Amino acid sequence: MVSQYFDLGTLLLVALVFVSLEGLIPLRSGQKRLRAHWLNDVVFLLVNGVVVKLGLVVALTLVLTALQGAMPAALRAAVAGQPLWLQVIEAFVVADTGFYLAHRAFHASPFLWRFHAIHHSIEEMDWLAGHRVHPVDQILTKTASLAPLFMLGFSEMAIFVWGVAYQWQSVLIHANIRLDFGPLKWVLASPRFHHWHHANEQEAYDKNFAGQLPFLDAIGGTLFMPDRMPSRYGVDEPVPQRYDQQLVYPLRAAAQAAAPAAPSAGEASG
Ligand SMILES: [Zn+2]
Repeated sequence: MVSQYFDLGTLLLVALVFVSLEGLIPLRSGQKRLRAHWLNDVVFLLVNGVVVKLGLVVALTLVLTALQGAMPAALRAAVAGQPLWLQVIEAFVVADTGFYLAHRAFHASPFLWRFHAIHHSIEEMDWLAGHRVHPVDQILTKTASLAPLFMLGFSEMAIFVWGVAYQWQSVLIHANIRLDFGPLKWVLASPRFHHWHHANEQEAYDKNFAGQLPFLDAIGGTLFMPDRMPSRYGVDEPVPQRYDQQLVYPLRAAAQAAAPAAPSAGEASG
């Protein structure tokens, strides 16, 4: 999943870097740049951020107000008193643990899955497709990452550095880029790691939940990273392909699931 951009300049820089890399070292060289539904993902890129930012402020305010004082002041002071580099490393672990748990919950709960299915409807992976995330999914998952950082008292600079790294890594892991991390692939999430999360192959279902640190999946027993790449991506359920339809899809699907089943022809006649 992709973080929201701090400003237009960052967005343009991200676009420039990843469009260039996908041209220079493509993972799937046959994939069209203007692949199916690219325009819809541009809508996500430009519109979703506003909705997500507003929702994130509300969700974080609620959570942090409800849990105010839950963390001992001495612990917060000890965290904030550490060197910046150490805080940043710890922020990666804390935030991605929150992300891992929230992401796993989005796969485990049928209600939450309908929101997350929008992201998994990606059938051609690239830097742009990674932005296709339902606002509810994005808001809850980012709250799970950020709330522990604020509660534990990490410095603003440590959270900022983590946030920038998260933003770039989120785009990278979805991108159509052939980039091998070597032995680091077990430590930092790579395109190979996250492409397998999107694979529409039975053995890859519910694997690789981490956003940044694959070893969290090793600990959770959900790591799957064979040497080959997936043969196909996406989901089998009929997720619509337009932004407005994708926004309401989870609620419509939940309503349909809750509605009593129509009587079969046999029951109706009998
Ligand atoms: Zn997922």
